[in-house]
Amino acid sequence: MTDWVYGFGAGRNDGRADMRNLLGGKGANLAEMASIGLPVPPGFTITTEVCTYFTEKGGAYPPDLKDQVNAALARVESAVGVKFGDATNPLLVSVRSGARVSMPGMMDTVLNLGLNDETVQGLAKASGDDRFAWDSYRRFIQMYGSVVLGVDHHRFEEIIDDAKITAGVTEDTQLTAQHWQQVADEYKRMVADVTGAPFPQDPHDQLWGAIGAVFGSWMNQRAITYRRLHDIPADWGTAVNVQAMVFGNMGNDCATGVCFTRDPSTGENIFYGEYLINAQGEDVVAGIRTPQPMSEARAKPGERSMEAAMPAAYAELVAVRATLEKHYADMQDIEFTVQSNKLYMLQTRNGKRTAAASLKIAVDMANEGLIDRTEAVRRVNPGSLDQLLHPTLDPKAPRKLLSRGLPASPGAASGVVVFSADEAEARAQKGEAVILVRIETSPEDIHGMHAARGILTTRGGMTSHAAVVARGMGRPCVAGAGGIVVDYAAQALMAGGVTVQAGETITLDGATGEVFAGTVAMIEPKLSGDFETLMGWADAVRRLKVRANAETPLDADTARKFGAEGIGLCRTEHMFFDPTRIAAVRQMIMSETEGGRRDALAKLLPYQRADFVELFRIMAGLPVTIRLLDPPLHEFLPHKEEELAEVAESLGADLATMKRRAADLAEANPMLGHRGCRLAMTYPEIAEMQARAIFEAASAVAKETGAAPVPEIMIPLVATKKELEISHAQIDKVAAEVFAEAGTTIEYLVGTMIELPRAALIADRIAESADFFSFGTNDLTQTTFGLSRDDAGKFLPFYVEKGILPKDPFVSIDVDGVGALVKIASEKGRGVKNGLKLGICGEHGGDPASIQFCESVGLDYVSCSPYRVPVARLAAAQAALSGGGDRTA
Ligand code: PEP
Ligand code: MG
Repeated sequence: MTDWVYGFGAGRNDGRADMRNLLGGKGANLAEMASIGLPVPPGFTITTEVCTYFTEKGGAYPPDLKDQVNAALARVESAVGVKFGDATNPLLVSVRSGARVSMPGMMDTVLNLGLNDETVQGLAKASGDDRFAWDSYRRFIQMYGSVVLGVDHHRFEEIIDDAKITAGVTEDTQLTAQHWQQVADEYKRMVADVTGAPFPQDPHDQLWGAIGAVFGSWMNQRAITYRRLHDIPADWGTAVNVQAMVFGNMGNDCATGVCFTRDPSTGENIFYGEYLINAQGEDVVAGIRTPQPMSEARAKPGERSMEAAMPAAYAELVAVRATLEKHYADMQDIEFTVQSNKLYMLQTRNGKRTAAASLKIAVDMANEGLIDRTEAVRRVNPGSLDQLLHPTLDPKAPRKLLSRGLPASPGAASGVVVFSADEAEARAQKGEAVILVRIETSPEDIHGMHAARGILTTRGGMTSHAAVVARGMGRPCVAGAGGIVVDYAAQALMAGGVTVQAGETITLDGATGEVFAGTVAMIEPKLSGDFETLMGWADAVRRLKVRANAETPLDADTARKFGAEGIGLCRTEHMFFDPTRIAAVRQMIMSETEGGRRDALAKLLPYQRADFVELFRIMAGLPVTIRLLDPPLHEFLPHKEEELAEVAESLGADLATMKRRAADLAEANPMLGHRGCRLAMTYPEIAEMQARAIFEAASAVAKETGAAPVPEIMIPLVATKKELEISHAQIDKVAAEVFAEAGTTIEYLVGTMIELPRAALIADRIAESADFFSFGTNDLTQTTFGLSRDDAGKFLPFYVEKGILPKDPFVSIDVDGVGALVKIASEKGRGVKNGLKLGICGEHGGDPASIQFCESVGLDYVSCSPYRVPVARLAAAQAALSGGGDRTA
């Protein structure tokens, strides 16, 4: 018999923390907490396998599930000593979803399940508190009605608003038992009206309704979107947790709260969180009442900390905090309830945190001995380092403060204001920077939050949806900016007498919670000592070298600062676009004779030489890979007639001739056209000039510094061995000439990019003429898939959304196809030349999953954009720690 249901609490623990695949994170951790002796109300978990069954069988359950649920419920009844549906003293339960990873977008929680017109009376008698009973019942109808029955939550709020107006009060807390009873009646009438059926009164019907809603929510659009954005497979499924209710809203010796064992924004080792006296879970996150701080040290004037208000329960919680951190060896995100001064734990999980906090916590925990250094290296998501490397507002920059909210997620961002997630996505797709402004966010807004540069809400606290999700995504976020009024209908926000319309620019500072009008200047980030410490630990374990793709001195400097160990790709064409030399470049291209081209190239030589001198100086002692000119020549041609006339004049030619030549150079498929080494075949003088500039620069730097650089000259788009042989010979000839002139000899390498499938397949032959290979996985992806790099953006997102491709292959290497070619070429190349130097310089060189693949095929280095160098260093370390697990299967 399959076990579909696992019990926890009150002396029974069928599950463990490592059973999250089956029990979901919440269920597994409830069982684990109970097993280490923490106070967990008894309950049971229905497994994720039931979700899969339910999805596959169109909403049916395994035949023996009902019996197992009834048995588990009976156990909870006897543990608590009250009965589900009992008219005099009813057991109430919570029903909550819980996937392997926490997943906003699914049905979350229904509390107080088991209440109906009869049991509410029993609850009132048993608790001796009518108001509590009726408040609980109306909360249940509201939650069940909106999350299970799909009634718009505004409909409930309207009824409460009306009740307050009728009663002449402004706060929920001023409503009496009678008022809540009337509200509950109104709710039931409204729900019956909307759904066409009376509100379910049978507690068992309620329970199965809620269970079905959790399983059904796994396949709702919000959950599907969230899974797509976070690479979560649809077949994981969610579990359902049913647990005996404890009440934080039964009086002033009751409370509920959400907290983190360390500060999730900064990583500081302090107890951090919010609680509310006499409240139920949703009150803390809903932003209706202002939650209070946990510790007295964090309490501002007028605030009442839990430490001060409930010292005994607080002390118990502090002990739980220590137990949990020791047990899980990670920062925990906890939910708890205090009922009549007794503490109950409702949830623990590894807490979401900012990149800065993740780094600090990993380094601190290693220093505290809770984890070792390699574990600290494993703990930090390489992609999240991006957040630490992003700019912050320049303190000296002028600014106009609009308002202030909570500093919910660090970083600064400017962008145009949009008021809906859809618009955020649409405008971001057109390349605009947008700030998503909402009164509050919900899981429906996730795609817009992802597309936005920053998020601003006018409601909600540090544990609100917007804050938690933005932090996880690394988006700057200001939450709960109550001084801002958002008017969706007018598409405007008002703050301090200023109106900002949709489409106007604002700036957010997620570290301070400030919101500014217009754009504010930003500065580069300064990295903390923890960053260097962790990078040092990562460097100690990684095997792959990390180089940068850089051509300007600024990029090269940045790359060095971030720890690049050389340049893996200098795209020389970028140097040709400089305004000081583009005229000579155009002159060279438009010349129809070799003599004319050589004249123009002679003008370019000193510029190129100076470029390389600077790079060699900055990269002193490190390898510098310089790629010869790659793009088709017409990319350099002007588009305007006046500019073409200027080129004509410089060549003493007429405009009509220029137009003809430009037309001759045009190609239908330029990426497959006259580019790469094909240029060196037809116009060898270009490669000769570039080689000369490299060798003269290297000789000059060698003389100047006494330490000769080792240039690695790279030939692009090679498809045949002959192409490489011819290029190699050209370069050797120039080298010999320059060395004779300079009276010195410099060591150099000549290698090739492997960026065409043919090159990969005949890599053994190509290797005979190459000192190194560098995989140009941008072109290799383009040519392997037959997918244009420049046009695929129009339909690739559709492919990814529909699961036709698991990921964008230009972002993360296609291991099965492109990766197989890399593997073949590596093996064939090294088969001919043992120890042939192998690297990658496509965009994939900065993508953690692709770096894992590079480790598995034994490349020597990855090369990526300067800002991704730290990401690559950490990803390379993690790849080494995971043994370079073979991902080609
Ligand atoms: C590549 O093709 O992967 C590459 C690095 O070169 P480029 O992007 O310049 O074509
Ligand atoms: Mg390329």
